[in-house]
Amino acid sequence: MTAEGQARRSTATGSNMPEINSERLWADIIATARFGGTDRGGVTRLTLTEEDRQVRDWFIAECRSLGCTIEVDRIGNIFATYAGEDPSLPPIAVGSHLDTQPQGGRFDGILGVLAGVELIRTLKETATVLRHDLTVVNWTNEEGSRFSPAMMGSGVFSGASHLETIEALTDRDGTTVKAALETIGYRGETSVGHVAFGAYVELHIEQGPLLEASTTDIGIVTGVQGVRWFDVSITGTEAHAGSTPMTQRDDALVAASEIVLAVRDIARRHPPGVGTVGFVAVGPNSRNVVPGSVQLQIDMRHPSEEGLRQMQAALEQAVAALDAKIALDHIWSKQPVVFDPVIVEAVGDSAKALGYSAAEIVSGAGHDAAHIAGICPTAMIFIPSKDGLSHNEAEYSSPEECARGAEVMLQTVLQIDLK
Ligand SMILES: [Zn+2]
Repeated sequence: MTAEGQARRSTATGSNMPEINSERLWADIIATARFGGTDRGGVTRLTLTEEDRQVRDWFIAECRSLGCTIEVDRIGNIFATYAGEDPSLPPIAVGSHLDTQPQGGRFDGILGVLAGVELIRTLKETATVLRHDLTVVNWTNEEGSRFSPAMMGSGVFSGASHLETIEALTDRDGTTVKAALETIGYRGETSVGHVAFGAYVELHIEQGPLLEASTTDIGIVTGVQGVRWFDVSITGTEAHAGSTPMTQRDDALVAASEIVLAVRDIARRHPPGVGTVGFVAVGPNSRNVVPGSVQLQIDMRHPSEEGLRQMQAALEQAVAALDAKIALDHIWSKQPVVFDPVIVEAVGDSAKALGYSAAEIVSGAGHDAAHIAGICPTAMIFIPSKDGLSHNEAEYSSPEECARGAEVMLQTVLQIDLK
């Protein structure tokens, strides 16, 4: 924060920097975990269910009591806005999602929304008035377990998918998204994409082991890695395992094994890329038959498009070098997301100013922020996940870790507010 900004805020508040209340944030995490709470301390709160309605109602009631205005759009995204002093400025948004996986945890997504509520409480309590409106967002269906695709609400909001197409999607019981929204009373009046945010900051648990392993308090998330999926079909010749000499075999599984090793080696040669063969189907899959066909599914990820391109080229080369009949199909890809350098820097500066250890990190998982990055300057803040666990009832981050994340989010918002 600049000296001028500090002075302005000190004048406005009559005190120093506002600080979030760690116990209050933790109490909210415990309080909301009862909506869909499981016996083993997790949460099952699939999107647009009765449990989701309960936590949405809770969120709105809390924000209303703090003086926020509430908007709900057609796809059920909730926007709770705490007014700033200059309505002509674009709102600064923070948030994440309140839905969970089946037998999910208490933190994934939830932390980012509840930290937003805590920010508003802190601003109100310290009579801090921002220049910009501050909007806390709960995005509909981030998880994608009841309705696919994931990150549905932010996808429609950002223009990545069409409202009518998404509304018509069904769950396993044949219920449409539209009907589910109507059933819980969250098919709102506001048109989707009604507001252009000045910036978006999402606090989230890491869902991986890196921060904990390096005892780092804060992950400064620079982007979300890209993904390329490939299907491989290998055709060999089925033959008798006893009577076919080794020199005369056309073994599809041996060729597949070479590809599995090549995928590992390619990823290792392109750090921090990762490569996985997670699916293998062998035909006929019988002990005494030389395999005649194999299907493989490959997942390759890298933070840069150039890295992905190089990994794909290396894969094509490795496959071409094999003496076998192989079809390699690039079936799906998702481009890497690079977050806004100014917001990323604000996150790093905030962590440093608060005295927390921080390191840059690329998200291995998808997030609503990946969609929002397409329409406004965006970044994310990660805190450590115990044992790297997520999408698991044992998912855990300590009260101190959650509070550090919220503190960094508050300082980041204060910094952006001065720009
Ligand atoms: Zn999440």
